[in-house]
Amino acid sequence: MSLVIVGSVAYDGVETPHGSVARMLGGAATYIGLAASYFTNVKLVAIVGEDFAQEDRDLLTGRGIDLEGLEQVHGKTFFWKGVYSEDMNDRTTLQTDLNVFADFNPKLPESYRSQPYLLLGNIQPELQRSVRAQMNGTRLVGGDTMNYWIRDYRDELLATIKEWDFLLINDAEARMLSGKYNLKHAAKAILDMGPNTLVIKRGEYGALLFRRDSHFMVPGYLLEEVFDPTGAGDCFAGGFIGYLAERGCDLKQGHIEKRDLSRAVIYGSVMGSFCCEMFGVNRFQTLTRADIDARFREFREFTEF
Ligand code: AMP
Repeated sequence: MSLVIVGSVAYDGVETPHGSVARMLGGAATYIGLAASYFTNVKLVAIVGEDFAQEDRDLLTGRGIDLEGLEQVHGKTFFWKGVYSEDMNDRTTLQTDLNVFADFNPKLPESYRSQPYLLLGNIQPELQRSVRAQMNGTRLVGGDTMNYWIRDYRDELLATIKEWDFLLINDAEARMLSGKYNLKHAAKAILDMGPNTLVIKRGEYGALLFRRDSHFMVPGYLLEEVFDPTGAGDCFAGGFIGYLAERGCDLKQGHIEKRDLSRAVIYGSVMGSFCCEMFGVNRFQTLTRADIDARFREFREFTEF
């Protein structure tokens, strides 16, 4: 049983107050996949150019990630460059070169289609929908989106998330999607759009999980030093869905406990926090499941009262 992940595999240029890196492995699907790989088998669907390095491929396969769905075509890999503010809560995109990503039309290998878990990373809603349609027998489907799709592709996005079990977005996106400032009101409006579970990510302030009859709140993990927040939201998503897949959860059949969802949000926060400790995906070179579980226990200790 595996988790299928669709999204960008990229090269990123990142500047933070701690330094800058001109080009390193990035992309939403990369971060989601690496984070989820600590919990479950991962199958990646993405596109890269002929410049995609063997060492980057090796990092992914080294974590057991199946790359049969990673298409390599003539041209250059998607490139994104961003700079962070002094407090690292704001990010400005300096460059987005779509390159081969502009023609991404995901086709799932046969062996991917009957897998039970699907995480749709931030790509055009129509493409997310087409991937969903290629799967049969999924137990749990959800994903991410961003302001651009909410603003300019609203109808497509609404048709897409209508078929999802869960949606993971940040607070600004939740407000934009719902048209409501109050997050409780925003959550209610978004749950009326289709997903039965909504996670609102709030960066260093943690995350909120909403279902129709309940909500759960988790604070952010207090890091000594945040080196590079790039990919933290994606790693949150990877930890969240990875843990639910590991537990064999099935939202549709009601085979899910509130406790599992709460723990999934904690594992999401744990994975997001590790991601920020080093530039790019570097933290995943050494991170172990034991490190992850130790931080999970810390969360339990500092939220208990
Ligand atoms: P996050 O910090 O969680 O928002 O994720 C950052 C990652 O998203 C970076 O590694 C980028 O390569 C990737 N990214 C940035 N812009 C886009 C975009 N328009 N579509 C897909 N992926 C993107």
